[in-house]
Amino acid sequence: MPETVEVVCTADECELDMFEMHYTYDMPDSVGLSDFACPYCRQTDSLSKVEL
Ligand SMILES: [Zn+2]
Repeated sequence: MPETVEVVCTADECELDMFEMHYTYDMPDSVGLSDFACPYCRQTDSLSKVEL
C-alpha cells in the first residue's frame, strides 16, 4: 500500500487540526513533509507527522 501520512499543523494561528495525505506508488522516497505546505495557513514549517 502507498503510504498514508497523518499530519498536524502546529502553527498557533492555524485552525486546522489534522489532515491525511495519501501518496500513490509513484511518490519518490525523497519527498518529505518539508515539500508540503499546510492547506489552510500555507505555512511550510509548521507541519508535523503523526506517528500512530
Ligand atoms: Zn496550518
